[in-house]
Amino acid sequence: MISIKSDYEIELLKKAGEIVGNTHNYLKQFIKPGVTTKELDKLAHDFIIKSGATPSFLNLYGFPKSVCISVNEEVVHGIPSNRKLKSGDIVSIDIGACYKGYHGDSAWTYPVGEISKEKQDLLTWTEESLFEGLSAIKEGAHVGDIGFAIETYAKKHNLGVIRELVGHGVGSKVHEDPDVPNYGKKNTGPILKAGMVIAVEPMLNLGTREIFMLDDDWTIVTADDRPSAHFEHTVLVTKDGYIILTKR
Ligand code: MG
Ligand code: MG
Repeated sequence: MISIKSDYEIELLKKAGEIVGNTHNYLKQFIKPGVTTKELDKLAHDFIIKSGATPSFLNLYGFPKSVCISVNEEVVHGIPSNRKLKSGDIVSIDIGACYKGYHGDSAWTYPVGEISKEKQDLLTWTEESLFEGLSAIKEGAHVGDIGFAIETYAKKHNLGVIRELVGHGVGSKVHEDPDVPNYGKKNTGPILKAGMVIAVEPMLNLGTREIFMLDDDWTIVTADDRPSAHFEHTVLVTKDGYIILTKR
């Protein structure tokens, strides 16, 4: 069941999204060579709490930290640790915040120090693919239109499109119906209606689309060890388009 949010719920979802966007903005200044992913997690955690919200991912399905931090070939669900970021890394930070029972969810991949041209291209193209996907959104469009737009763009740049991990509805749970895949066919899947709130989150790889899970039972990595990027916004579907709730 895909829920249509009431005006009251939309207000809370906007506030949650705003806190997520602000947390990204705040965290950005600390993403430098030498910082540990655990330090970034703590900074994000404290900022979310100070904003009057709680970190959505802490204890979600048993996740042990407040935000997911995934470096280079790690795609998603990296557990913050004593790992120090170094110049040339790319780091994906996935932040969720819950405000008065409603969530916002946004991931962004950042360069650390100086990165290679191919990594910079991966970031540029993956971010661009997010906006390609979003541009397919409006009342009456199909969920498949979003995936089609992302996949078409990604293929143009020869990027691997991960299929096992998908976007989702957002509301009083972080993960609600519908699934929002990053691949698909036009005019397939559920029809979007104004008042739905979804997270669109392309995860694109420089190499193969194949992935596997590390022994920590959380971290997803690319099968060929090549870098992966992740860009995500939570958006409200409107009559003519969409409104980004996790603006930064
Ligand atoms: Mg996320
Ligand atoms: Mg998400």
